[in-house]
Amino acid sequence: MPDHTHAFDYVVVGGGTAGSVIASRLTENPDVTVAVIEGGPSDVGREDVLTLRRWMGLLGGELDYDYPTVEQPRGNSHIRHSRARVLGGCSSHNTLIAFKPLPSDWDEWEAAGAKGWGSVQMEAYFARLLNNIVPVDEKDRNAIARDFVDAAQKALGVPRIEGFNKKPFTEGVGFFDLAYHPEDNKRSSASVAYLHPVMDERANLHLFLETWAHRLDLDGTRVRGVHVRTKDGEELLVRARNEVLLCAGAIDSPRLLLHSGIGPGADLERLGIPVAHDLPGVGENLLDHPESVIVWETHGPIPDNSAMDSDAGLFVRRDPEHPGPDLMFHFYQIPFTDNPERLGYARPPHGVSMTPNIPKPKSRGRLYLKSADPAEKPALDFRYFTDEDDYDARTLVDGIRIAREIAKTEPLAGWLKREVCPGPHVTGDEELSEYARRAAHTVYHPAGTCKMGAPDDELAVVDPELKIRGLEGIRIADASVFPTMTAVNPMIAVLMVGEKAAELIGGGAR
Ligand SMILES: Cc1cc2nc3c(=O)[nH]c(=O)nc-3n(C[C@H](O)[C@H](O)[C@H](O)COP(=O)(O)OP(=O)(O)OC[C@H]3O[C@@H](n4cnc5c(N)ncnc54)[C@H](O)[C@@H]3O)c2cc1C
Repeated sequence: MPDHTHAFDYVVVGGGTAGSVIASRLTENPDVTVAVIEGGPSDVGREDVLTLRRWMGLLGGELDYDYPTVEQPRGNSHIRHSRARVLGGCSSHNTLIAFKPLPSDWDEWEAAGAKGWGSVQMEAYFARLLNNIVPVDEKDRNAIARDFVDAAQKALGVPRIEGFNKKPFTEGVGFFDLAYHPEDNKRSSASVAYLHPVMDERANLHLFLETWAHRLDLDGTRVRGVHVRTKDGEELLVRARNEVLLCAGAIDSPRLLLHSGIGPGADLERLGIPVAHDLPGVGENLLDHPESVIVWETHGPIPDNSAMDSDAGLFVRRDPEHPGPDLMFHFYQIPFTDNPERLGYARPPHGVSMTPNIPKPKSRGRLYLKSADPAEKPALDFRYFTDEDDYDARTLVDGIRIAREIAKTEPLAGWLKREVCPGPHVTGDEELSEYARRAAHTVYHPAGTCKMGAPDDELAVVDPELKIRGLEGIRIADASVFPTMTAVNPMIAVLMVGEKAAELIGGGAR
């Protein structure tokens, strides 16, 4: 018999990036009670989590849900999608590159049916963010990354940008803004910025840690609460007097809905899951930012200073009609050969990488369940590089060619001994495309699987107030509600979704 004493005004499922913002904002009002159901442990005192530069050590570890992809006939079938199982969610694991979305990103959302989410309306939410967003500190600016910036500027004629968030841009190269504390390289994640200062003080905020939400509790079309399993295996029903706020991320939010019988009816029936609410868009519109990699060996070791080993980047606009950048690069001060090694390339003793990335990919994927067992991981079919006109693969081919131009240019050229992969002999469109797709990796930006949209959009899962269509008592606020992908890295957009959600819910103090 579930314990009915667990009742709160709001139940936040997932104490991750957006969930931390919402839980913090709602509990500013001492009369509002909030429970956070978080699958992972606290990040407080965990140096392995809180130290930004240790992010790679978390990949595939005990704090990673580690989702595989299904076979990708035109891409890399070995990609694993890291998702953090810890307070702060992926903001406790990621590289904290902090881009305010471009006006064209928000305006695209509004045009896709997210009324009220245009660039003018969204401006205010960036200013509210509590994270410490600062440019990569001078002491963290590695000499080779500085020379990459100079070489890219010279080779391509793009502006050097000092502070990507100062004003909208379509192209440019520079050091990123990061959500971190440069003095000790500590994260300014969602949990650090929003929960740590208040979690011991607010009696109205209750964290259920290492507790897994496995099914929503429905009464007809009204969501009443969440069935959870604690670390000790205890089954509880956590009731929401007002609303459940689903913030489990782009993989686990649709997964929880599907296991609760909310999703494409025919698919659920096939798996033997009773259909509570036929909602065809759940799991559709799976988006990501795929990228490929080109690696050079350097003549010798690279100086060690860095914020997180990928501190600078480049944006290019190949098509002058495109509203924002249409090609992006991260510059890594390490030879990033995890995927090329599978293709037979050897990791050089020291080297650097440029990673051409598709800001607005056209391929669309899908997430679905393989069985009714909530413990089985869902299938992620990104359908990488399957868009009809081959735009996505062509973007990476263009990227490799542009990267080579930069590598030929001083002051970067003097550092580089040889191109390791794909290698100077790989020059044709077809060969470059084959390499780029097979060596592709993800920068871990899955989004869009419960997209926000207009009332007449059959595949919209939430309306512009983030309420699930056809249900009461539940909203979704996380990367799953993205109608389209932001051209820039999405974490700040997720935090802003959290801020706007808190305002829409109306329980906050402001
Ligand atoms: C390695 C890596 C690097 C990245 N680098 C960057 C970057 O530099 N810049 C950038 O902008 N973006 C980056 N991203 C992407 C960015 O971090 C994410 O888009 C964003 O944090 C997603 O936020 P979210 O709130 O949607 O989900 P999350 O932050 O993942 O939060 C979901 C939370 O829900 C919990 N949860 C899930 N299911 C359940 C359940 N059933 N029961 C209980 N709890 C549950 C999880 O434990 C987690 O805490 C990166 C991501 C990764 C993984």
